[in-house]
Amino acid sequence: MFKIRFVFYGGAREVGRSCIGLESGESSILMDCGIKLTPEGPEYPNLPDRLDCFILSHAHLDHCGMVPTLYKRFLCPLYSTDISFDISHILQRDSLKITLSEGLAPEYDYDDIDLAALGENPLGYKQRVELNENISFKLIDAGHIPGSAMVLLEVEEEGETKRVLYTGDVKTSDTRLLKAAQVPKADILLCESTYGDRFHPDRAEMENSLLEGVESTLGRGGNAVVASFALGRTQELLLILKDLGYPVYLDGMGGDLTKLMLQYPRYLRDVKALKKAVEDVIWVEHNGMRKQAVKEPSIIVSTAGMLTGGPIIYYLKKLQGDARSTIFLTGYQVEETNGRLLMDKGFIVDPRSGRRIDIGLDVRYLDFSAHDGRRQLEQLVKDVDPGKCFLLHGDPASCESFGEFTSQVCESFIPELNSAVEV
Ligand SMILES: [Zn+2]
Ligand SMILES: [Zn+2]
Repeated sequence: MFKIRFVFYGGAREVGRSCIGLESGESSILMDCGIKLTPEGPEYPNLPDRLDCFILSHAHLDHCGMVPTLYKRFLCPLYSTDISFDISHILQRDSLKITLSEGLAPEYDYDDIDLAALGENPLGYKQRVELNENISFKLIDAGHIPGSAMVLLEVEEEGETKRVLYTGDVKTSDTRLLKAAQVPKADILLCESTYGDRFHPDRAEMENSLLEGVESTLGRGGNAVVASFALGRTQELLLILKDLGYPVYLDGMGGDLTKLMLQYPRYLRDVKALKKAVEDVIWVEHNGMRKQAVKEPSIIVSTAGMLTGGPIIYYLKKLQGDARSTIFLTGYQVEETNGRLLMDKGFIVDPRSGRRIDIGLDVRYLDFSAHDGRRQLEQLVKDVDPGKCFLLHGDPASCESFGEFTSQVCESFIPELNSAVEV
């Protein structure tokens, strides 16, 4: 029986810099090539010596952040959905800008981002690609952000076929913005484990908590600052907040990405609803508008979702100590980020000056995750019904907890960073 070799260059026992090598026969394929954002600057995955092609699951930086470096080195074909490529350029440029502004040495420059676009092959979902006579693959909607994909590979050797499913980041239940992922059967599963040790609360309850929290904040004359991830979460929040009747200010990169998504209606569950939700939104374009936003009771949806930078820092400084106002954290807060610091210790560190800022606002954490929680992950594994599975994209505790389940239903691995496993 032939073997496939997997190499875990990143995203093993960690959330960040996802990067997985697949080697079979003479072929060498890489799936995702991201960066890991830390307070000390970005961390990068190692890269293989040789590469035939690269497949990108989706446009978050922990999956796409190092693609320009990869392309510069290998000049190999890159595959993903069209919207993922478009969004990845925006995020790579922004990431480069931040790296330069922090005085750190970047891995690539603006020209490298343009160069990588030459290698891009945009694919539709379920479009089969024959990489060579032994390996084919297709992308399947992952329900995580617009354009996100799972990768289903068929590897054939010695007259035998193995199906490999890489989930990327996945959500198998509907949100207001996106339809749920439908998972196929596979022999080998490479599964994300972000919430491997946690169950998501009921989505409708979360929406109600947000609406109630926002209304009570505005009712007492405060500002509801909603920390939002630009890609997917911002649009989901706008869909939830649309009927409250208060001014909604939209600041940061979420605005640009909302405009871009409206150009790709086929990736959205209901484009009309999103168009309607943004009709009355106030698009913040300069500091004067920011001052206006905090002068009146208002809802401010702003990046960054983990408070690592962006205009949200302005609002937190401006509203510091205002007991009427509330900051809502709306998703996973990676260890050591400002968002996690705020949840655990009540302060953040100014990304510019490095000074501690005691926020003094009401802090609410609401889990609007774009990832499957433990219950959905268990169902996913049952539906894929693999013989072997690898748990990736999770903190060690999360992978180990989920592994207690997966090891009961199949042969289960929690690979170490930079390890290789043949199965
Ligand atoms: Zn993601
Ligand atoms: Zn991710």
